[in-house]
Amino acid sequence: MTKYIFITGGVLSGLGKGTVAASIAKLLQFRGFSVSMIKCDPYLNVDAGTMNPIEHGENFVCENVWEFEPAKGFVFRIAEVDQDFGTYERFIGKNVHPSHNITSGQIYLSVILRERIGEYLGKTIQIIPHITDEIKRRILEIANEGSDIILVEIGGTVGDIEGMPFLEAIRQLRNSMAKEDTMLIHVTYVPYLKTIGQLKTKPTQHSVQRLLQAGLTPDAIVARCELPLTLDEKKKISLFSGVPIEAVISAPDLNVVYALPIVFEQQGFGDYIIRRLNLIPAENPRIGLKEWEDIVKLFMMDNPSIRIAMVGKYTRIVDSYISINEALKHAGAHERVSVEITYIDAENYEVKDLESYDGILLTPGFGKRATEGMIKAARFALRKHIPFLGICYGAQLATVAFARDVMKWKDAHTTEVNPYTSYPVVDLLPWQKNVQTKGGTMRLGGIGVFIKKGTRLWNAYKQKYVIERFRHRYHIIRDYAEKMMNEGYVINAEDEEKNIAGFEVSWHDFFLGVQFHPEFKSRPWAPSPPYREFIRAIKRKLELN
Ligand code: GLN
Repeated sequence: MTKYIFITGGVLSGLGKGTVAASIAKLLQFRGFSVSMIKCDPYLNVDAGTMNPIEHGENFVCENVWEFEPAKGFVFRIAEVDQDFGTYERFIGKNVHPSHNITSGQIYLSVILRERIGEYLGKTIQIIPHITDEIKRRILEIANEGSDIILVEIGGTVGDIEGMPFLEAIRQLRNSMAKEDTMLIHVTYVPYLKTIGQLKTKPTQHSVQRLLQAGLTPDAIVARCELPLTLDEKKKISLFSGVPIEAVISAPDLNVVYALPIVFEQQGFGDYIIRRLNLIPAENPRIGLKEWEDIVKLFMMDNPSIRIAMVGKYTRIVDSYISINEALKHAGAHERVSVEITYIDAENYEVKDLESYDGILLTPGFGKRATEGMIKAARFALRKHIPFLGICYGAQLATVAFARDVMKWKDAHTTEVNPYTSYPVVDLLPWQKNVQTKGGTMRLGGIGVFIKKGTRLWNAYKQKYVIERFRHRYHIIRDYAEKMMNEGYVINAEDEEKNIAGFEVSWHDFFLGVQFHPEFKSRPWAPSPPYREFIRAIKRKLELN
């Protein structure tokens, strides 16, 4: 019988509820249980794919693509999910399926389309029970995958209007299950007031009240705070929330997020959960705990710093590129350097300022804004021999920079920005040009990539065939790439359909771009090969070896 842990949030969003959920899952893995993660997002978008990262953080891309069929005769391909899925994968080391990101958009779309095709004939369609039933159905369906425990994170904070149907659905689910089969963990914020030198528990009190109003009683409270809670503060929270004191858990700010499961372990959180769910751990001592501690130590080492400029168009919030940040940190930790990232707004910077960085990473993106600034950064790295990694749009725009600068094709461009360029070095493929909807032409999810021997990319992977994740519409066009080959442009990878999947420049120590997003598969224990090779190139240049 699958057990469920629901995770809600209070006081504010952006508390790192995803990291808390992933860390709890880790505690269960340490005890030998299999886990699955679900994230419910109350927004009305059907998937995260159409959201600007500045508004909602990164779009994470799953390995699998899900054929979502809200009603007979309607199918949508979904692989883009909330950024929390990246956190889940980086902690639990298991690919998460896109159907585990349940949005209000999907729920309402299913119910409304089914109403139209007559599935509810004669009935008045209502939020309760129709919307809540659909939410419950989706959550329960995932139990068929056979995990011991499913963790369900509810996005947003309690009290948000959009979140109500989800809270009501989990209230009903909890009612229908035995007490030891479900658990509710509420994540709140306990601010530290510098002026009086105290942690304040009042906002937590209010958010617990909101939860109780929704008919939900918490079994544990995780308090996000600058400093760990004292015993007195834990007692206070325990008193007003009705949660036993051992289940009031501190989640203080950490330099290394991967240390959170250990911080939880030290407070006995894992044992409490197991007791509360009436589970008998499969093994003792813990599985993988020691290895996890070793990984965390690797991230805490005092290493020499390297500085990387991350040039892009969504630099206003750091979450826009969270998987890239993490991939750089993973690679750095394993290469014994500490990576300092500076985000550079491609629309507003002086290109010569890039000189002070040890490496330049050109980021993914969509649309025209800031592209000239991005191309300039690539050209600078090319001319000044600064180690350079271009990811997806970053690789496409670096190709444009090569075409303009080396080939002297002055108006070379991607047709995404300039459809009238005389050198469309990046363009749609012929079949894509006839498809009307934007969704229909996007290449998504894990696709096989063949790596060419003798290239720098080969040094990274040392493997002929890998699966990496894609999220793009445009391609580097072979006819142009072949002309550029005479000047040192090297195609280092092709995908299953023989499209160009990566390139590098032969006369530059490290100027490499990939059409895919290797960051999505980087793990703290297994850094992504292209990122690691990039860090190695920087180390070589700085003679840090
Ligand atoms: N906009 C580009 C494309 O659609 C690149 C996308 C990306 O960087 N993920 O191909």
